Amino acid sequence: MDEDAGFPRGLPDVVPCRLAGGAAPALEAPGVPVRHRLEGDGPEDGEEHGHGQNPAKGSPAHPAEVSTGAPRPVSYTRPVAIVEARDLSRIYRLGEERVAGIRSASFAISPGEFAVVAGPSGSGKTTLLNLLGLLDRPDEGTLLFEGRDVSSLPDRERSRLRRDRIGFVFQSHQLVPVLTALENVALALWIRDLPEAECRRRAGEALEAVGLSGLGGRRPDALSGGQRQRVAVARALVGEPAFILADEPTASLDSETALRLLDLFDALHRGRGVTFVFSSHDPRIIGRARRRLRLKDGRIESDESAAENGGAA
Ligand code: ADP
Ligand code: MG
Repeated sequence: MDEDAGFPRGLPDVVPCRLAGGAAPALEAPGVPVRHRLEGDGPEDGEEHGHGQNPAKGSPAHPAEVSTGAPRPVSYTRPVAIVEARDLSRIYRLGEERVAGIRSASFAISPGEFAVVAGPSGSGKTTLLNLLGLLDRPDEGTLLFEGRDVSSLPDRERSRLRRDRIGFVFQSHQLVPVLTALENVALALWIRDLPEAECRRRAGEALEAVGLSGLGGRRPDALSGGQRQRVAVARALVGEPAFILADEPTASLDSETALRLLDLFDALHRGRGVTFVFSSHDPRIIGRARRRLRLKDGRIESDESAAENGGAA
């Protein structure tokens, strides 16, 4: 883990995103053939990463960044992946022993995907999601986040990316018990120093999106397990992150509630274009994903995409 992860897992780390210019973006529809200009999506010049673009400095990361003097529309033919793993490995060292968490994983997650990392206990799901969520670093290989190599970024920059671009949902909701549901969601915006009224308004909207309007004033202990996990989803969603990562989000729910949580993911994915990457060992949950990365002993055993209407297997 990065030492600086800084926050308790699942708390401030769970936040938001902004496109350059500060406007809250419409969430991606699947397959939109556009490469967004993102804050922090600049040349790797070894300096303060990710602040603004200065065409006079360093090599442009993309031909369209070259200034021709006249403004012109920018369009591209393929979306940049949210995350791309290239030959990624994570080896744990236990004294003399070396345990492979993930071995030579290569794949990309594009905007708008609905993907599961599937596999039995010990197959490497948490290890892989921790790498994708910048909670841990690979020992070998490269991880690109929105086109930029983040494998060796300083901890501070990785924290900022996590806060601004990734929403996390954990196996156990990790809500703050003394805060109300609304405050738990607003927390993800408070840490960005947004005005209080805006935090509360957006938190209320996020709770509505997960079907919890009217329950914002309750504390977690007055909510059911499924409702708490919905609050956790609202908290992950509220900052409009590039994607939501969820490590076995249904593992502590009964099977009926688990399927309802998947219905919610599905509705957010289809209705708002939210990109999800979640893990599970439950065949009924795995069957709901359109993209299935199956792990075995730390290796990607298969990587399949189901037909768009064929999610349920
Ligand atoms: P899953 O989430 O699929 O259950 P994990 O990613 O937790 O799998 O674990 C993958 C492998 O890495 C397992 O063999 C596990 O014992 C090992 N592992 C995970 N975390 C650590 C750790 N911190 N130290 C040593 N070995 C670990
Ligand atoms: Mg796990």
